[in-house]
Amino acid sequence: MTSALEIRNLHVSVEDKPILRGVNLTVKQGEIHALMGPNGTGKSTLAYTLMGHPHYTVTAGQIIFKGFDLLEMAPDERARAGLFLAFQYPVAIPGVSVANFLRTAINARRRAVNGGDKGIPIPEFRKLLRAKMDQLQVPQTFAGRYLNEGFSGGEKKRAEILQLATLEPEIAVLDETDSGLDIDALRIVASGVNALAGPQLGVLVITHYQRILNYIKPDFVHIMLGGRVVETGGAELALHLEEKGYDWVRERHEEVADD
Ligand code: ADP
Ligand code: MG
Repeated sequence: MTSALEIRNLHVSVEDKPILRGVNLTVKQGEIHALMGPNGTGKSTLAYTLMGHPHYTVTAGQIIFKGFDLLEMAPDERARAGLFLAFQYPVAIPGVSVANFLRTAINARRRAVNGGDKGIPIPEFRKLLRAKMDQLQVPQTFAGRYLNEGFSGGEKKRAEILQLATLEPEIAVLDETDSGLDIDALRIVASGVNALAGPQLGVLVITHYQRILNYIKPDFVHIMLGGRVVETGGAELALHLEEKGYDWVRERHEEVADD
């Protein structure tokens, strides 16, 4: 069965201020989606809501993941069910290597599927990690580094993509907006997504970088404006944005652009 993340008429407020005002968006396994839009339109709000950040209050609508009500699940349950959010673990964890961290995460996911699971045997884990690092062209020494300790922006992204590769989630949401226009970071994420793309993985890449098509070829492109998805198309929509910017979107959707 194909897993899907379905966002239906989602309304979200931050400190009583409505930010998302009726978002509809479905991402299925095997599909690559790009969510684009000017700054301040609610893209990161959507990502934080998906991860269950307590600051973001859902006032209406639903999020269905694999047929379950995502909003009823704790953030770690969401992850164990196969939803990956790129910024789940943004902090440095002293004394925990990248490899240890990944093994713990894999075991948490295995236990969610089978309560009696004894964890991935070390030799199997080593083999898996080596294969994923080869696939993503990450140097093997990276596995021994302490997670996020002294990592550059690019190295954080590399750890994130490695996490994505080893956890094998069904749907991944990657919010790139906060890394700004850091092209190296985007390049690392894009080549990782391209290497991992396939029938088992659905991806929602959130970005305001209009030249994203130079890096990722999405099957679907969505434009968010005023807390709603106002346009959906194929890769040609991103090309159009690169050429024309967002003014035509604002003109076409004046009803949401002003408030
Ligand atoms: P985008 O990612 O599209 O640039 P955001 O989701 O970050 O947009 O922000 C949308 C709106 O919500 C902005 O007006 C922003 O000021 C507001 N907002 C988002 N998060 C918070 C927060 N934690 N506290 C207060 N306001 C917030
Ligand atoms: Mg953002």
